[in-house]
Amino acid sequence: MPLIYANWHRQSIDMTTFKALGLEEPFVNATLDLGFETPTEIQEKTIPVLLSGETDLIALAQTGTGKTAAFGLPLLQSIAVESRITQAVILSPTRELCMQITQEIKQYGKYLKGLNAVAVYGGASISEQAKQLKKGAQIIIATPGRLKDLMSRGYIDLGKISFCILDEADEMLNMGFYPEIKEILSKSPNDKATWLFSATMPKEVSRIAMKFMNDPFEISVGEKNTSTDSVRHEYYTIGGRDRYPALKRLVDANPGIFSLIFCRTKRDTQRIAEKLIEDGYNAGAIHGDLSQNQRDLVMNAFRKKQLQLLVATDVAARGIDVDDITHVINYQLSDEIETYTHRSGRTGRAGRSGISMVIATRSELRKIHAIEKKIKQEFVNKKIPTGLEICEIQLYHLANKVKETAIDQDIEGYLPAINDVLEGITREELINKMMSVEFKRFHNYYSKSKDLNSPSGNGESRQAKSRSKSYAPDTIRYFITLGERDGLDWKSLKDFVTGVLKLQGEEIFRIDVKESFSFFNTAPDLQDFVLSTLSASEFKGRPISIEISRNPEIAPGGGGRRRKKSRGKSSKFNKRDNFYGGKRKKGKSSGKRRKNR
Ligand code: AMP
Repeated sequence: MPLIYANWHRQSIDMTTFKALGLEEPFVNATLDLGFETPTEIQEKTIPVLLSGETDLIALAQTGTGKTAAFGLPLLQSIAVESRITQAVILSPTRELCMQITQEIKQYGKYLKGLNAVAVYGGASISEQAKQLKKGAQIIIATPGRLKDLMSRGYIDLGKISFCILDEADEMLNMGFYPEIKEILSKSPNDKATWLFSATMPKEVSRIAMKFMNDPFEISVGEKNTSTDSVRHEYYTIGGRDRYPALKRLVDANPGIFSLIFCRTKRDTQRIAEKLIEDGYNAGAIHGDLSQNQRDLVMNAFRKKQLQLLVATDVAARGIDVDDITHVINYQLSDEIETYTHRSGRTGRAGRSGISMVIATRSELRKIHAIEKKIKQEFVNKKIPTGLEICEIQLYHLANKVKETAIDQDIEGYLPAINDVLEGITREELINKMMSVEFKRFHNYYSKSKDLNSPSGNGESRQAKSRSKSYAPDTIRYFITLGERDGLDWKSLKDFVTGVLKLQGEEIFRIDVKESFSFFNTAPDLQDFVLSTLSASEFKGRPISIEISRNPEIAPGGGGRRRKKSRGKSSKFNKRDNFYGGKRKKGKSSGKRRKNR
């Protein structure tokens, strides 16, 4: 695990505090108010250096590492708040990031009386911003274009600044802001301190550093240009025309998904979002052709989770400060390999794990291999779920949702009438009917759907391919009532299952963790042992239910082959063998514990 994430929950091991880094009481208290228990790695590395005197700094760090506080806290401690002269400028690539930094700076400086931090960015009223500036802002947080504009109109004078911070420098340069940055840096005092933060270090960023910085102190959080361990990378190979249906399947196969979907162009971004909305998803688009007002509305809805899917261009996504994105979906890959690092870094943040999925055609596979080399991590080649797999997942999800839903007291008054309507229907029938009502949309859509996997992309992970050689072709897939909600991801679920069963890691495979349940496979001879042992076990004091998954298309390497056992009667669409009413009752496995395990 790279250090960035390793640092988040280690208060009991390392007693380093914000105070120990040299921060004064008002700032220590502000971090305590925010619930920051210990500094993150980047904060630990930068804060003492930045407090020790005026030095230039280059920090390689991605968003989510706590970099805003890493520069914000020492900056606030270093400015003279009693003066209204502009002492620092923070440059950021987008309006959203600009607003986010300003908000954080205000939170960190909440006990600093007289602090005026002003955000200036394009797409908003310049006269309103000018009004704010007239009061005298010690810190200005700006997008480069608007800053230059306000400088040329005489509203901003950088002649006396002591600090210039470039946040997400690589992104600003990607967006073509080199001329503005150059002008801003050359029109401010030579003896100012310049702090540059960047996720990657392309040539253009090094050029800025060489030209405008003086013997900078360099730090790096995590390995340069690599993605983090908290993100699993997957790709799905499809035919060119199946990109959109494939996207829908990936979304449907992950009912708890909260996702950013990346397209290459503004047009595609808008088009895909519109199609998703038409198809009944809570989706929205964010790209440069929208007005600021529209962008704000979409962002707010996404932050509040009113939108489950946000389709974005790379540029527009830069300012998205949402920590709990579960999946990044690369609907189309960008030509720039570095872009992939930015995209996948939007998930797996703040100690959580995430999945970055790529929908690729065969001709794009070489790009995937180039990315693998760059990020030094292997992609798992996965299979677009079949219609039946999706139906099963949705059905389990629905059943869990029903189970978990708190009873609304307001409904009580209607119950006698409802009971009358439902009289004579057995519990089994009622469950069946309720599931059928809710389930129609998926069943109707998917029951006759085709396999979307491109023949070359047989959808097996490389690991699974090698495993399938050592097992009989048939394997057993299990459904278990543990999921992300229990704080598990595929790795920790595997650890838990192998721990309980005392199996080797490779004996458990095709692990798929959903919000409140998961799937995994074993060889058939383990079936009874797995069912009896796990159904008799607990997870954190909670009993576990485990069932054989009824999805027939599960054999690794099966590529759509059906398991004989699952034909006909055992299909979950068969009324006699419904999801609840399978022949084997939960916890009553006839399996005997395997000896010597
Ligand atoms: P950033 O990398 O600046 O975008 O920060 C990501 C998130 O981490 C922000 O929401 C911060 O509020 C939060 N954060 C920053 N420092 C800490 C810390 N030491 N402990 C916990 N959360 C933090």
